[in-house]
Amino acid sequence: MPRTDPGSENKLWSKIWNLNGPPKLRHFLWQACKGSLPVMERLRHRHITMNAMCPICKEEEETIIHAIFECSNVGEIWQHRNLQETINEGPAGSFMERWKWLCEGRNADDLRLIGALAWGCWFCRNKAVVGQPVQQKVMTDAGFKRLVEDYVSYAHKVFKQGGHSEIRMQTSWSVPPHGWVKVNTDAYVPNNGRVGLGVVIRDERGNVLVAGVRKIEPTEVEMAEAQAALYGVSLARRMGFNKVILEADALRVTMAVKSLAEGCSPIFLIYDDIHKICNSFDFFQCNHVKRSGNVVAHRIARWDTNGSDEFVCIDAIPQSVRTLAKLDIS
Ligand SMILES: [Zn+2]
Repeated sequence: MPRTDPGSENKLWSKIWNLNGPPKLRHFLWQACKGSLPVMERLRHRHITMNAMCPICKEEEETIIHAIFECSNVGEIWQHRNLQETINEGPAGSFMERWKWLCEGRNADDLRLIGALAWGCWFCRNKAVVGQPVQQKVMTDAGFKRLVEDYVSYAHKVFKQGGHSEIRMQTSWSVPPHGWVKVNTDAYVPNNGRVGLGVVIRDERGNVLVAGVRKIEPTEVEMAEAQAALYGVSLARRMGFNKVILEADALRVTMAVKSLAEGCSPIFLIYDDIHKICNSFDFFQCNHVKRSGNVVAHRIARWDTNGSDEFVCIDAIPQSVRTLAKLDIS
């Protein structure tokens, strides 16, 4: 895996985040930049295979750069857009270097297009590897481009300012857009005893769909808030929600989800897990809200679980929570 200082990785993640593309595109680009796509060269490095030759063209070692930009398998995709020569002028050391180079002087629209094509190339590579080569690559790739563009215009419509770059300070709770759920999280760190992680998931009318609390061993506040956010997105995934807004009043946590990629302290393992889950949703957004907009999660984090580790309500939401939730939107 290519190693760079965390500061520059954070910047890179911010750039990928700010493309405002679908979470799955961001996840793909991030995996590629971190060198964690399972190409032959990586598999050999991990002693899973002895032979790193590209299984498709059998001409060169299969690195991520090879699979996505250079292999004859995907040549027509880049040629079709007249990008082949431009793209392969860049550094060839790693996908991360190449991507950083591509980022220079390009606007988000162009980068998003290149990202979408790269994603399409990876799809064609995976199909070819399992013996189902894509016949109409240019069409497939147009599909990826379309997927990304549809996402962007949808996100723009839904959030007005588009995608994920919205940095608006919210002081009160507001309903999510049609078809979305909002996941509010909060942590309760008492002076002694276990920490409570509170989560409430609400629909576009403000109805409480899920309320849950989890108890963990005592820990400091930021860690607890990060754990609460992780618990929130895990619960949302467990319940099968796919258009998700995560909202918390811990600014450092929401900032980390949106910008910080990696670091050395244990809290980054939590952020990493949050990233993984968020990237599995079809749509995802993360907001910071003031405490006054996070009262339901605040209350739930204080629930007594009678000694159990977790308590989740799905159908029978307690009246006190429903009342609090109503006050929120009236
Ligand atoms: Zn090849």
